Amino acid sequence: MSAAAGTSEVRQAHAVTLLGATGSIGANTLDVLARHPERYRLHGVAAHSRHEVMARICIAHRPEVAVMVDEAAADRLAASLRDAGCATRVEQGVEALEALGRDPGADTVVSAIVGAAALLPTLAAASSGKRLLLANKEALVMSGDLLIAAARASGALVMPVDSEHNAIFQSLPATSTGVSTEGVEKIILTASGGPFRTTSLEALRVVTVQQALAHPNWSMGPKISVDSATLMNKGLEVIEACRLFDLHVDDIEVVVHPQSLIHSMVRYVDGSVIAQLGRPDMRTPIAQALAWPERIDAGVAPLDFTDVSGLHFEKPDTERFPALRLAFEAQAAGGTMPAVLNAANEVAVDAFLAGDVAFLQLSRIVERTLASAKSAPASDLPTIIEADREARAIARRELATLE
Ligand code: NAD
Ligand code: MG
Repeated sequence: MSAAAGTSEVRQAHAVTLLGATGSIGANTLDVLARHPERYRLHGVAAHSRHEVMARICIAHRPEVAVMVDEAAADRLAASLRDAGCATRVEQGVEALEALGRDPGADTVVSAIVGAAALLPTLAAASSGKRLLLANKEALVMSGDLLIAAARASGALVMPVDSEHNAIFQSLPATSTGVSTEGVEKIILTASGGPFRTTSLEALRVVTVQQALAHPNWSMGPKISVDSATLMNKGLEVIEACRLFDLHVDDIEVVVHPQSLIHSMVRYVDGSVIAQLGRPDMRTPIAQALAWPERIDAGVAPLDFTDVSGLHFEKPDTERFPALRLAFEAQAAGGTMPAVLNAANEVAVDAFLAGDVAFLQLSRIVERTLASAKSAPASDLPTIIEADREARAIARRELATLE
């Protein structure tokens, strides 16, 4: 954004709202923003309940407003900020969160809340013509075409932050409003394979939460780490790619690439393949999405190819990791089935993290929920929210019968 003042051009700083500030993407975003204080200032932050982390963020970055969804956490945050003499205004609850998504004080919103809780604030940002940096994938998976349609209608620019989708964005030809998929033969999503890439089906029966959280290449929040271990993350990303780039599920192929250096590729009808490479560091896609079509420093060390021992590729194994197949099937079925897939998975992952179900039961719960949920066209928000609610109820029942 630039504004004319008198005869000389004065460049104003972009005002950024960061939803999910206390998480892993939140921390990476704050790191990139802090490298460019002349270019970005923090307008708003939001998180669920980690008020101590939020207090540190507010004191360091001085946003105008901070929303804590948890009310007790909001009170504690307000008290800490008062003691520290920090003028950030504290608000609480889900309505304040949604209002922050559309708050005209920011021209850029980073959606980095985990799970379905991001749906309403992300939709609010998409409906208000902002630059929307989308890290959260669950809202997009749930929402059918609603989120992208809302962005189109308002003129919002949706910039993918998920590393694969950011790589695809970078590998497609740019237009004035985004990218074009003309001439694309296949989108090739790469997957690291997660911590259990070489673990046998037999051994997968007894893997622990701690093992599932130990991703070989990326440091991420617990939910996406478990999703990476089951390959549900890649399944959600297949649906995410369909929505972002207006593709059919058959246009997408998944290949396991354990080094996580190629973040995804586009194969064109003439046989050309364009890929984006880089270190597995989320600051790269965050910086690209913030500054596009310009480039800014992300604090990421250059990738030295003489250090790379090789690039390896293999087919994903949907027998050991059925979640990937389930996601392809849910997207092919269409309507509310991706929302059902997502909701059942969120219930299953919560139960796994709480130590209530075994690793292999995660996909079983999702599969059974998909089999018994009713499908409807995902044509409006109430239908999607109802499909999410019903799928959670079914998944909880399935959970109870597994014991
Ligand atoms: P995280 O668990 O580290 O952080 C989650 C954030 O969401 C926290 O700030 C938390 O307070 C907030 N939150 C959780 N529940 C909430 C609720 N009910 N209401 C409001 N806020 C809530 O997660 P993360 O790893 O940063 O991932 C965030 C999103 O980005 C996910 O959707 C994930 O799939 C996506 N993503 C993450 C990475 C990564 O490297 N971490 C990469 C690609 C995509
Ligand atoms: Mg990803």
